[in-house]
Amino acid sequence: MREIRGGAIFAGDRGAGARAGVRDRGRAMEIYKEFVFEAAHRLPNVPPGHKCARLHGHSFRVRLVVRGGVDAHTGWVMDFADVKAAFKPFYDQLDHHYLNDVEGLENPTSENIARWIWQRVRPVLPALAKVIVRETCTSGSVYRGED
Ligand SMILES: [Zn+2]
Repeated sequence: MREIRGGAIFAGDRGAGARAGVRDRGRAMEIYKEFVFEAAHRLPNVPPGHKCARLHGHSFRVRLVVRGGVDAHTGWVMDFADVKAAFKPFYDQLDHHYLNDVEGLENPTSENIARWIWQRVRPVLPALAKVIVRETCTSGSVYRGED
């Protein structure tokens, strides 16, 4: 009897939670984690004499934005550590590398870096919503994927 009553209360709570979940499933919350990597590059397809054709480096800043519902119990969309873990193997391919030598980054513009990161991280982090790459304090790109 007590169990049934408890079950009924639980079911009621779940109902309220499910309704909140419907709102959350609108993916209203975005969280992000930022990374910095140092790398060299040159842009092979710029007009003759363009400064970006010369070998140079940046402290690239990457922001991975994850969108989702806020879990009623944890109070978070997901653990920031899981975002970091998803990016780690690809971060390691970028940090302190000559980006033009990285497969898929023969023309390492910030746009192409953002797409490169998206294509690798999204399969392991399906809630990924945006990849933002900044190559200077004032310049960067935002990629939301093709879907
Ligand atoms: Zn550059």
